[in-house]
Amino acid sequence: MSLRNEMRVVPTLAWVLAILAYVGIAIGLIVYAIPQTPDTASLPKQGQAALALFAAAIPAIYILLIGYVYGDARRRRMHYIVWTLLAIFVPNVIGIILYFILRDPLPVFCPRCGASVKSTFTFCPKCAAALRPTCQQCGRDIEWNWAHCPNCGAATPAGKQSIVPATPAPPAPGPA
Ligand SMILES: [Zn+2]
Ligand SMILES: [Zn+2]
Repeated sequence: MSLRNEMRVVPTLAWVLAILAYVGIAIGLIVYAIPQTPDTASLPKQGQAALALFAAAIPAIYILLIGYVYGDARRRRMHYIVWTLLAIFVPNVIGIILYFILRDPLPVFCPRCGASVKSTFTFCPKCAAALRPTCQQCGRDIEWNWAHCPNCGAATPAGKQSIVPATPAPPAPGPA
């Protein structure tokens, strides 16, 4: 999960809006707000410019975060419209913070049919392939490297595990 891949989750529209907001707000601050505010008007010109470039980044980052919530919730098969609205309208970034706390794990691919499925599923809803190893005796989920089922104690020989772990899904496709 590299930063580069995560940045690709942000839709193009959010990048465009963030850049427009950054440039517009920075110019507005340099031309109007900072020279007309007594506290900042006395700063040297470079100081005023640095203040404007810094202050304009805050709304731009906010827009990118909302775009990230949209793209990330979408690839996680969550209610992405609802989460985007929460990210926009819940004040003080609380909607965005809640999203990062409550988001579902990334979906994985079924190793047999390639369908994108929730990582918590035991079987593929499309082709019924096993997505995680289960105890042959009691049917509970087990880990790939366990020799015995922690629930019923049955041996789980590695030879029985003819299935392969599902792989993480790649970054979401662009907005439809
Ligand atoms: Zn499948
Ligand atoms: Zn068992």
